[in-house]
Amino acid sequence: MEEGFRVKLIVRAPAKLNLSLDAPFTHSDGTIEWRMVMTSIGLSDFVQIETNSSNTIKVTSDSGFLPGDSRNLAYKAAEIFLEKTGIDTGLVISIEKHIPVAAGLGGGSSDAAAVFRALNDIFETSLSLDQLAKMGLAVDSDVPYCIYGDTALVSGRGEVITPLQKLPKMWFVLAKPNVSVSTPRVLRKLLKTPISHPRTDELLRGIAEQDYPKIVTNLGNALEAISMAEHPQILTLKQRLVKYGCDGSQMSGSGPTVFGICRTESRAKRVYNSLSGFCNEVYLTQVASERIHQS
Ligand code: ATP
Repeated sequence: MEEGFRVKLIVRAPAKLNLSLDAPFTHSDGTIEWRMVMTSIGLSDFVQIETNSSNTIKVTSDSGFLPGDSRNLAYKAAEIFLEKTGIDTGLVISIEKHIPVAAGLGGGSSDAAAVFRALNDIFETSLSLDQLAKMGLAVDSDVPYCIYGDTALVSGRGEVITPLQKLPKMWFVLAKPNVSVSTPRVLRKLLKTPISHPRTDELLRGIAEQDYPKIVTNLGNALEAISMAEHPQILTLKQRLVKYGCDGSQMSGSGPTVFGICRTESRAKRVYNSLSGFCNEVYLTQVASERIHQS
């Protein structure tokens, strides 16, 4: 990009769902190893990035709750990108928030990943997804996955991303109970709790074979029992999703959002309508339609 030239770019930042999340292993130095299967969904934030000559980074959002400084993951991403590439520019980042905050849907990490991808495009730095993912790990463990997006197996500290086949056609109904879950607190409790491991390998086979029933019956989240014990609403919503017609349901991340899966839009709409009378925050969405990463 020529110096003094102003660019404005708007990028989509999709939410993620954990189809599988195994109990993470915590090393003695506090680093955590994950094994999880994630997928990007249609529910998305929109991140607008504008360059200027101010040499400052400014982050705003329409949510009202989010910090505009380095506590915002989008700000952190911009700071790291500019520092690592040595690019001297000012940025205004405006986030249109649609993904509920602190919900287990990776909204902050996805905003950060969108900033990395957009800056790589704007400044034509040609960094590979892997290079961006390595930078992203310094922001949050979910950022490397969000840089790749789509459906992937995530392992290591969050930086080992194995892209998987796109999921067969399915619809998701999401319900967020009105409670807050602290991820570090859930992880601390996990250390003292008997672990129920999800059947991640079976799920991976289901995805490879495009076998919808195999996918739906092998959802699993080792953190679910801990969050549910603290917030019984999570279990109630999970059960209602199935009662109203979903083929399977599960909590995403450390919660509190739960999602149900349906094969058809008509059935998902019925579940959505039934659940809307019971929960204030319900969303109907699909697997993200555009692939973030073209292989
Ligand atoms: P995690 O599982 O990592 O806690 P989450 O997916 O449940 O994340 P997020 O919406 O990413 O939830 O928010 C987690 C925390 O990150 C919140 O405390 C929020 O204030 C902070 N945060 C920082 N930047 C953002 C952002 N751009 N969007 C959303 N949250 C952000």
